[in-house]
Amino acid sequence: MEKKFESINGDKQEKVEISIVIPIYNEEENLPILYERLKSVLDRLEKSYEIIFVNDGSTDRSWEIIKDLARKDKHIVGVNFRKNFGQTAAMSAGFDIAKGDVIITMDGDLQNDPEDIPKLLEVLNQGYDIVSGWRKDRKDNFITRTLPSRIANWLISKTTGVHLHDYGCSLKAYRSEVAKRLDNYGEMHRFLPALAKSVGAKITEIPVKHHPRIYGKSKYGISRTFKVILDLFLVKFLLDYRTKPLRVFGGVGLILFLIGFFSLLYLIFIKIFLGEDIGQRPLLIFGTLLVLSGIQLISTGIVAELITRTYYEAQEKKPYIIKEIISDGKLSDKEKELFNKNN
Ligand code: UDP
Ligand code: MG
Repeated sequence: MEKKFESINGDKQEKVEISIVIPIYNEEENLPILYERLKSVLDRLEKSYEIIFVNDGSTDRSWEIIKDLARKDKHIVGVNFRKNFGQTAAMSAGFDIAKGDVIITMDGDLQNDPEDIPKLLEVLNQGYDIVSGWRKDRKDNFITRTLPSRIANWLISKTTGVHLHDYGCSLKAYRSEVAKRLDNYGEMHRFLPALAKSVGAKITEIPVKHHPRIYGKSKYGISRTFKVILDLFLVKFLLDYRTKPLRVFGGVGLILFLIGFFSLLYLIFIKIFLGEDIGQRPLLIFGTLLVLSGIQLISTGIVAELITRTYYEAQEKKPYIIKEIISDGKLSDKEKELFNKNN
């Protein structure tokens, strides 16, 4: 079996200011060009940096190329997935190992332009936690990409209350302590700014360049739009109700139950007092159905509450994040523990 961990410069830990995280899935033609362009931008910045290429199960020569680059240039970190886990998982792995104070994500297909990095950093340093790229002049097919994305962006903006023009743009800069706190599963990377709002992040966007894809193929089709819309439900839930699921399920459940309950009460009334036959009344089925659905939803809400508690307690997560603590000068052990757990 191939060596799993290869450290080229021994175990020296150097301070890193900027970590660039790039998911790579079959980008063999793009990698060498991307590397050259990135290097020329980053060397000009005169800041310490690392470039983390996460190879997400490529079937072409991408990993060979990443390995070669890493052996030649100590700024490169290569991570090789066992199989294709998806772009979001690749970003997540990058976030986990990034050493920088700032993490910048981008695509590996040359559609994002490394020349935008200095501008992202500049704006981040004006006091933001996330600066998101906005592909103002997007170079993708209008019908299959740009139009669905406009609609999705509008929906996401309305639903989450985080107002960006372009959630899907991978080129983003994050303050590392924010990026590392975000749960990044499934295909959620576009929702990171929205989720970041729940940890109190300050978010802004700037226009960035966008180029057509020249080498290799896009990994996504139109079906992504539907997945994004489904994910949006989850994000809305996570943002507003993750600590109080009973409010959603129970709220709807209670309304249904009450409508059903009064419908049945009415039927009982006319049966008993007016002596009418109610067996043939559609209202009977309607009422019964509503009462049952109501009870089901309320129980789902209670189960969800229990799961939420397990979720927070199992991970020792707190439903709050402390920015700073001020007390008599020395922090008590409890204060330190709370602070560290949350930061
Ligand atoms: N990517 C990945 N795993 C996947 C799909 C894509 O790592 O399963 C990478 C891909 O190599 C590229 C980036 O994610 O660097 C964006 O993919 P793509 O260009 O296909 O998306 P699009 O620009 O078409 O939205
Ligand atoms: Mg692309």
